[in-house]
Amino acid sequence: MTIHEKTLIDPDRLLTSDKLVVDGVDVSGPWNTMILPRTLKDYDVDFENVIARYGGAENVHRCWQCGSCTNSCTMYALNTDFNPRYWIYLTLLGLKQELLKDRDIIWQCVSCNKCTNICPKDVRPEGVMKALAHWIEDEGYREKSHSSLFDEEFTRQCLDRGRIEDTEVMTRFFRDTRQSLIALARRGWLGIFVARMGKWPLLAHGHLGKFLARVPVAGPLRMLAHRLFKPRTPSWGRTGEVLRQYVREQKEAAHA
Ligand code: SF4
Ligand code: SF4
Repeated sequence: MTIHEKTLIDPDRLLTSDKLVVDGVDVSGPWNTMILPRTLKDYDVDFENVIARYGGAENVHRCWQCGSCTNSCTMYALNTDFNPRYWIYLTLLGLKQELLKDRDIIWQCVSCNKCTNICPKDVRPEGVMKALAHWIEDEGYREKSHSSLFDEEFTRQCLDRGRIEDTEVMTRFFRDTRQSLIALARRGWLGIFVARMGKWPLLAHGHLGKFLARVPVAGPLRMLAHRLFKPRTPSWGRTGEVLRQYVREQKEAAHA
């Protein structure tokens, strides 16, 4: 018997009489709630296998719907529409259209892995959330999320050179996500980040020596040098080739 949550049932399938007395017993309001049955025809029996082919989602078939993942979920605590157990349920039933109703929030999984740690069946729900988010993007149901764009650039550098350069990752990420650095510095998290790094209070209190000693010089110079002369992991050529080939094969297998 599957667990149902009232919030997940279409409101027009819920019947409730404000005023109802049965055999002299007042069952007005929620006491007489009935759910209209529905017949599902739009399921895809292969959908579970499609998702299981994404790395991290191989164990999706093991889920027994205990709900521990949702109960422990960081995002569920902020938004009860974020429901890993329910999305795994829809995946197992092949109800893609139902799943797509939540296409704008599934990608918000923050990979804290609380769900994975608590899952009694080793489903690894975090991997399933990532697989669903990637499937939604791969099938063109929504634009690539910022998280996917970041991952792509990070992976590209790892495969090409065997290492990443922070500045290149960040500058390309801002370019690809079309974010204004100036606006972010003024209002967004980047401004908070820079403010916390700032040593201005030292200067304001007249500690010029301490201020200069703590101003980061070597780091930015090294970053600049790496932007001009991109360092590679020694002997990366053949290793990179093999890894790129492996990644290509995995992608082809996932979309076969
Ligand atoms: S904790 Fe595991 S078994 Fe329980 S509902 Fe979540 S994925 Fe399924
Ligand atoms: S990894 Fe994602 S789905 Fe799992 S508990 Fe954290 S936010 Fe929720």
